[in-house]
Amino acid sequence: MITIGILGLQGAVREHVNAVEQCGAKAIIVKTVEQLAELDGLILPGGESTTMRRLLDKYHFMEPLKEFAASGKPMFGTCAGLILLAKRIGEANDVHLGLMDITVERNSFGRQVDSFEADLTVAGVADSMTAVFIRAPHIVEAGENVEILAKYNGRIVAAKEGQFLGCSFHPELTDDTRLTQYFIDMCKDAKENTEKNIDIDINVAIDVSI
Ligand code: GLN
Repeated sequence: MITIGILGLQGAVREHVNAVEQCGAKAIIVKTVEQLAELDGLILPGGESTTMRRLLDKYHFMEPLKEFAASGKPMFGTCAGLILLAKRIGEANDVHLGLMDITVERNSFGRQVDSFEADLTVAGVADSMTAVFIRAPHIVEAGENVEILAKYNGRIVAAKEGQFLGCSFHPELTDDTRLTQYFIDMCKDAKENTEKNIDIDINVAIDVSI
């Protein structure tokens, strides 16, 4: 069974829990650093990135989240969560976790259209899926190892870099769980690879002791 955590300090938490459970994985709302140890992957939900950052500092999450990333476990940032993952944020905003090689711009789609739905093609995930954008950021620039998964009006709105997945929109607000499933599959692969490596380590240890 794959266990997915949803950072539960602020934002669209419950909707992600429902989406993960619909995919048949176990969902845990993460409110303390200790809970990170139980997870195979972590979702950083949408909400308000500056508020989330304040809470991450208050509850001492910053270093543990960087360690979680360093352990190779997948992380999925949606909307504000994407901003938390980015290595660079436009307009001199403070960088938060700085894990994914992208530059993001906040509130990119203008005041008049605070929220809207669009039909997107998401590479490797869906030929057509409805995406809900709410005061959404977009990816202005992506490093060479970043795979661009979706664009809307020429702007990058979904991308993957190794263990990191990010999107500008809210996949948890529709009934379409394909992107959530895609992330869970990333977590399954990462878990299997870690287990294989542990097996190899044990065999090497046995060889050495013989
Ligand atoms: N505008 C928000 C921010 O900058 C993100 C909005 C969202 O997550 N729906 O953090």
